[in-house]
Amino acid sequence: MSIRLSAVPFDLQFKHPFTVSGFSRTHTPIVLIRLEFQGMTGYGEATMPPYLGESHESVLAFLKQIDLSGFPSPFEVDTILHYVDGLTENNNAAKAGFDIALHDLICKLKGITVSSYFNIERSTPLSSFTIGLDTPGKMVKKAEEAIEMGFKVLKIKLGSDQDRLIMKETLQVWNGPFSIDANQGWSDKERSLDFVFELQENGASFIEQPFRKEDLASASWLTERSPLPIIADESVKRLKDLDLIKDCFHGINVKLMKSTGLHEAYRMIQKARELNMKIVTGCMAESSCAVTAMANLAPLADWVDLDGPFLITNDPFSGVQLQDGRLLLPDQPGIGVSPLVAV
Ligand code: MG
Repeated sequence: MSIRLSAVPFDLQFKHPFTVSGFSRTHTPIVLIRLEFQGMTGYGEATMPPYLGESHESVLAFLKQIDLSGFPSPFEVDTILHYVDGLTENNNAAKAGFDIALHDLICKLKGITVSSYFNIERSTPLSSFTIGLDTPGKMVKKAEEAIEMGFKVLKIKLGSDQDRLIMKETLQVWNGPFSIDANQGWSDKERSLDFVFELQENGASFIEQPFRKEDLASASWLTERSPLPIIADESVKRLKDLDLIKDCFHGINVKLMKSTGLHEAYRMIQKARELNMKIVTGCMAESSCAVTAMANLAPLADWVDLDGPFLITNDPFSGVQLQDGRLLLPDQPGIGVSPLVAV
């Protein structure tokens, strides 16, 4: 009896259109993945923001290439994931969706949670809520919405010529801890450093991806001088990237859709710790499936930014809950989710 793989395309609808670099989106394509073995089902999710080059078609085509008939048991995790990874060079989100479903499946078969599979203590870390770059007025509204939803930490996206005004107005309604994601939007090193000192005085905890992802020289320059940790997001996807960027940033933002899933995300966190780097666990626009999977690793992070399910109106899964700004994992085997739609 072999492991059975199936997948269905789905669209996550955003509560608010999501604007990056003047381009607005109302939804994001995802693929829901199902792995079955001996009557047990594991669920996974691949989510594909258009700028990363994956789509419903590319993910479904990738999954079609996977032939599990040579693997008698899903417990050969290393071998199976090595085989899947070797099928193509990219397709990181598709690989992540498969990896999540495999971890869900084997943990359910063992009757354990993904946290205990990785030997991570169960805790309820605070998660930030990200407010996307917009006009100062709209960003203030989003900060107020984060307060209403019960979030205690804010992540503020910057990278426009109105950054100072956005900060001034947002901090009039937000009194709690916050971090900054410049989303590759800054270019002048000296001016960025001055602004980082201002942000530190205003209470920011870290700065994410200040410059273009390829501009490691500027990142390294700022990291040497910055009073706040400088975190890589777009500059780091997989484990192998860590060697390249380890001296250019203080830390990394680990996301399942970049790392190809839990297996490699866990190893990235371990390696980053060996290198004395800070860790953020983050997400794309994702449903409760992938975010709950990542929430199992969140206790290993310095900062947690897992807000995906709170930004959509048609979550296909139930999973992690928000309680007093903290992530509460359901106490059930696997990643901890239950489907709300036919997967
Ligand atoms: Mg980011």
